[in-house]
Amino acid sequence: MTQSSVIRILPEAVANKIAAGEVVERPASVVKESMENSLDAGAERVEVSVEAGGKRRITITDDGCGMSHDDALLAFERHATSKIRTAEDLFEISTLGFRGEALPSIAAVSRLELETRHASEDAGTRIEIAGGKLRDVKEVAWPQGTRIDVHDLFFNTPGRRKFLKSESTELGHIATLVTHYALAHPEKSFRLTSLTNEILNVSPVATARERVYQVMGGQLLEQMVEVAPAVRRMPAPSYAGFEEEAEDAGPVMVRVFGFVSRPEVQKLNRNQIYFFVNRRLVRDRLILHAITEAYRNILPSGIFPVALIFLEIPAAEVDVNVHPSKTEVRFRRSQFVHDLVRDSVRQSLVAARPVAAFPLGKSQKRPATDLLEAEASERLSDEPPGLKGPEIPGPSRPPQRRDDYHLSSPRPAPETGRLPLDGALSVYTPPAVTAQQGASLEAEVPRPAGVSELPADLVPLGQVQESFIVATNAEGLWIVDQHAAHERVLFEQHVRQRRERKVEGQRLLMPIVVELKPEQQAVYHEIAGELGANGFEVEPFGQRTVAVKSAPAEIRADDVERLLLEILDSVGQEAKSLSLDDLRLKIAASVSCHAAIKINMRLEQSKMVWLLRALGDSQAPMTCPHGRPIVLRYRMKELQKAFKRI
Ligand code: ADP
Ligand code: MG
Repeated sequence: MTQSSVIRILPEAVANKIAAGEVVERPASVVKESMENSLDAGAERVEVSVEAGGKRRITITDDGCGMSHDDALLAFERHATSKIRTAEDLFEISTLGFRGEALPSIAAVSRLELETRHASEDAGTRIEIAGGKLRDVKEVAWPQGTRIDVHDLFFNTPGRRKFLKSESTELGHIATLVTHYALAHPEKSFRLTSLTNEILNVSPVATARERVYQVMGGQLLEQMVEVAPAVRRMPAPSYAGFEEEAEDAGPVMVRVFGFVSRPEVQKLNRNQIYFFVNRRLVRDRLILHAITEAYRNILPSGIFPVALIFLEIPAAEVDVNVHPSKTEVRFRRSQFVHDLVRDSVRQSLVAARPVAAFPLGKSQKRPATDLLEAEASERLSDEPPGLKGPEIPGPSRPPQRRDDYHLSSPRPAPETGRLPLDGALSVYTPPAVTAQQGASLEAEVPRPAGVSELPADLVPLGQVQESFIVATNAEGLWIVDQHAAHERVLFEQHVRQRRERKVEGQRLLMPIVVELKPEQQAVYHEIAGELGANGFEVEPFGQRTVAVKSAPAEIRADDVERLLLEILDSVGQEAKSLSLDDLRLKIAASVSCHAAIKINMRLEQSKMVWLLRALGDSQAPMTCPHGRPIVLRYRMKELQKAFKRI
């Protein structure tokens, strides 16, 4: 080595600390890595206990295969793993772990004790490590399996320690993590306890549905639609490179199933969307996109559902070696996976009953039901705020929001003689129309035959304040927002006509001269052609003004100016990123909103009958193009309950 040589190989201890920085971000990361090891070891039962949100102590005990004395020592070496042998193995990883980094990383930043015994040995092994230094190894009596006990996480990295959040927040992350691993492995037992509480305790069950029920309770299940398992054969890759491999491999099957929320569940962020690839919890933009697409025109943009999606795909089709925390994946045929998820979710939503029941607004909750809720959430966390903003550890984690959905929050039955109407109607205030809100109706999955989304036998009884149609049938009481219902009918009609190039414009008696602001003018020039195809005839007229000579047939003359400006403004914010499809839907949404019957409008009986019929025939009678609910249903049973008859 010459004098000018400045590069050196870092000592093992330093390298481990660096790796720990990526692998161990917070207490939940320790839980994640250890649970993965337990599951990889074939454990049937995994128990996690934590103190002080995991900051003081985390213990994970399993009944897996355990380790021999020599393996236990080796496991703490960097890149020591029993799960892969060669670089080729990286292309087909069937275990949760494979990098051989977790144990040395955790050991580098904590005081750790490990007890383990492999079936092939009589005695167990106990290892003690602090800050990456081996302190003690001895023989102990130990049943088969492994226990890892992590004290004082980040005791030697104060910088990291400072970034930890409150105990309840850290516990929330851990609870979310254990909950979701439990969801992915219904055939195993999981238990999570804090010093004062049992947060989760689930025994083996046969189906994912039963596990969702165990973990989240019946109320959440009621708000969810099951995505029925769909198995699809992957098409052969069309690009070069993979072709020879694919030929001998035979058909590649992919399976998707899970649970997604009904349209009335509306979250302000994506934190409740969970996605598992071969039972590994991952964050994936592609899948997020697929889910957003599935909800297009069902939820407005900026509003998100709750979703648990499980994807089973041959290991060779997915690369999990993307990030040290293994929370990201790459699919070999990503478009296929994307479309499969989108179509499966969409299909389940369309097939599910369309109607919103009476969701209760927060303000409606009475003390008794709050208690109920507290009790239910206790099962997930001993400090409910800790569950706000659940997410998996990872650098791409979205910012935490306080407006989160409570996984276990029950929907209480009404307790007084008052129907919780205002709660139901204030569920959601729509934001401005944006690109995401329309659905490509061409892409709409055909409705399965025989599923009548809105019953055809509804008899309208009258209107509430000339705004909401009240109807009944054998099922119970129905309330329909007349404006939103008509808007939905017109929207679909307009999209259909546009597709068939049959939108009719109506000549105005007198051209309407509209003054445009510069940005509106710019947008106008960009979308003039599309406006023309939507029944508008607009011509430049002077420097900053246009003359509207025709408008879509259903629009009243005195509403034309407002409609045009609204379209220009709504498109203006995102003119550049808007696809033609999105633009068309946006225009259709604006036109139908302006053309629809308004609230505070008296309707003849025959008109109400017509509207309910037309709504029933539409593809998505449950939500208006802006994402608001259209129909509320109050079941007979709920009425009887409210009147204390049952
Ligand atoms: P990886 O999981 O990527 O292989 P780890 O550092 O997490 O790396 O673990 C190293 C090795 O230690 C594993 O490959 C496994 O053989 C062994 N091991 C870790 N935890 C357990 C456990 N709970 N039960 C049995 N073996 C374990
Ligand atoms: Mg591991």
